[in-house]
Amino acid sequence: MTRRNTQVARSRIGEQVIREIWVRAAGRCVLCSAYLLGGGRTYFHHIPHGQVAHNVGATKGKKSPRGKSTLTLDERALPENLLLLCHECHRMVDDIGAERIYTEEYLARHKRAHEDRVRRVTDFATVTEAAVVRVTGRIRGTLSPATDRQVGAALHYEDLRPAGEHPHDAEYIVSIDSEDTESWVWDEGTKKIAAKLEGLRDSPHPTVAVFAMAPIPLLVFLGSRLDDKADIRVFPRFRDAEDLACCWRNEPLTPAAFEVSHGSADAQARDVVVTVSVSAAVDVSRAPADLVDLPRVALTVENIGPDLIQTKADLAAFASAWRRALARVESHYPSCERIHLLAAVPVAAAVATGQHHMRDAQPQLVVYQRTAEDYVEALRVG
Ligand SMILES: [Zn+2]
Repeated sequence: MTRRNTQVARSRIGEQVIREIWVRAAGRCVLCSAYLLGGGRTYFHHIPHGQVAHNVGATKGKKSPRGKSTLTLDERALPENLLLLCHECHRMVDDIGAERIYTEEYLARHKRAHEDRVRRVTDFATVTEAAVVRVTGRIRGTLSPATDRQVGAALHYEDLRPAGEHPHDAEYIVSIDSEDTESWVWDEGTKKIAAKLEGLRDSPHPTVAVFAMAPIPLLVFLGSRLDDKADIRVFPRFRDAEDLACCWRNEPLTPAAFEVSHGSADAQARDVVVTVSVSAAVDVSRAPADLVDLPRVALTVENIGPDLIQTKADLAAFASAWRRALARVESHYPSCERIHLLAAVPVAAAVATGQHHMRDAQPQLVVYQRTAEDYVEALRVG
């Protein structure tokens, strides 16, 4: 076979189209898969070895390979008719006589198969689908659910995407309207959360992203109802970050150091107070009078403040300290039946508090809500 000049007329092919052909093929020859961005490096320049080739030739002339087609000249310059080939393959398919072997159909089929494969292997290769749980309750009169932008940004940063065809397909939304000062809000809230999470058990998605903004007792309850077999990702809520308010931060690099301390051991005590002072210091003198003299375990941290839990490592350190506090109750107060929990913590830590309490094995949690003046019993977990 004699060689034919492969420098076909390509003035009709725009820069944009050439770029598209390279991208669709991921820089590989659609016939032999040679990687076309590898070699051909001079000291200053990188010379790609690929060529954008016509399937149906650029012209209707006899010398144009596969040129006898009904496609117009403009159609021949469209991405559908063009393929990325290495120099070798380009010469082969355009050789005189080759068009009975490398037919229009053969080339179109190989181009399609290659481009489909590129799309498949690059499709969400590192992104996990997640069911999304959004719980909102009134705090001091205000309902402030995370916005779609905040949820989207936080998922995106964690390499997650909402499961399903549409962003709201696998969403579990709970909105609790009663004021946090009304006693029935706890009844309403726990019922709504429990019912919604019941539906989550049937979800085919093992990863669950949780966005919550509600009074602490409801967050603790929420945490207690999250299935510990699932991959649960709890997101924070920062006050000053607008669209990025639910994204975990990467600094500080050293996680916060939480400490657990306790009063003198008491083998008889049935009720123990656990104070958790993270976003604010818990003042036990504001608790109901019968709690004030009970044995006490305290979880604290240096630099108490509302934004103390910034990173996932902070949250993990908090969860670990909380488990130590529970273990301390069990070892020093072995008769304990009820843990009275007075907590001032950010939302993610409140959810973790419920998650890491073993409601079938550990003393019941009696969770208090801080009102303007006092701590008031809100609900019980376990
Ligand atoms: Zn090739």
